[in-house]
Amino acid sequence: MNSITVKAYAKINLALDVIRKRPDGYHDVSMIMQTIGLHDTINIKKTNFQSVTIRSNLYYLPRDRRNLVYKAVELFHQNYPLRKGLNIFINKRIPVAAGLAGGSADAAATLKGLNKLFQTDLSLEELMKLGIKLGADVPYCLLMGTALSEGIGEILSPLEPMPDCSILLVKPDISISTKHVYEKLRINEDIKHPDIIAMLNAIKENNIYKLTPLMDNILESVTIKEYPIIEEIKERMKDKEALTALMSGSGPTVFGIFDNQHKAEKAYRYFKSSSYGKQVILTKPYQEFHNRM
Ligand code: ATP
Repeated sequence: MNSITVKAYAKINLALDVIRKRPDGYHDVSMIMQTIGLHDTINIKKTNFQSVTIRSNLYYLPRDRRNLVYKAVELFHQNYPLRKGLNIFINKRIPVAAGLAGGSADAAATLKGLNKLFQTDLSLEELMKLGIKLGADVPYCLLMGTALSEGIGEILSPLEPMPDCSILLVKPDISISTKHVYEKLRINEDIKHPDIIAMLNAIKENNIYKLTPLMDNILESVTIKEYPIIEEIKERMKDKEALTALMSGSGPTVFGIFDNQHKAEKAYRYFKSSSYGKQVILTKPYQEFHNRM
């Protein structure tokens, strides 16, 4: 095998709760994660040179050590020496710095791709142990599907697939620093936490009408104050008959959940012709697990 093409799937957070700030600066979270159909495609080719070259369709994506794909290759190589050079092309479709874990998804897909290409036969658990060194979301991006994520993101429990639906993503043209959002977050008695237990029950019952009103993201308490456009997009999304709308991760992407593809397409056309954001994407939950790429 001389080359491989892998897909790197984006995620949304059906719920995001922050339990506490830890002494080491990280935060303990409780999140319900969902893989969506939107994905990047990464082609990895062996070469006879000893170097790693990264190219992408996005001119502004870093091509050096700052790229998580590069970091994934380095980490893999430190543990399982590759003895080959690599030419990597990332076809980026996941909006960057959007709360959709695009970088983590690319890192996870790269680890899976290298594992196949070099026939290292690592188990999912072994890949996840490597992955956590690259970022808190990487183990989940390896696992995929519907999952509860706890600790700093490394304690993962697979869940039943979320109910079928259409998902509309709208990314406003603003950039939000994840670090800033977590620093500004105040976990006091007034803050509303998502009811994760009730959500787990709604997922078990496969009931989208029970699940959607419970969906919540504690980080909105910071971002909506600073960027009212997020609330505005949520409201427009609901006007357009979304069952609910929520910010994903630390934002700024807002996603709407629709029980009907026709309504979702109507909302898609509305946002496409509006000035809310250039990146408007219609997708669905992606439920295949790690063993299929
Ligand atoms: P999260 O949801 O995990 O907070 P995000 O969706 O907000 O992630 P990313 O798209 O992963 O953010 O990108 C965050 C930063 O990482 C960007 O500034 C980008 O330059 C850098 N980065 C490094 N490698 C990649 C990659 N392969 N794809 C996207 N961004 C990357």
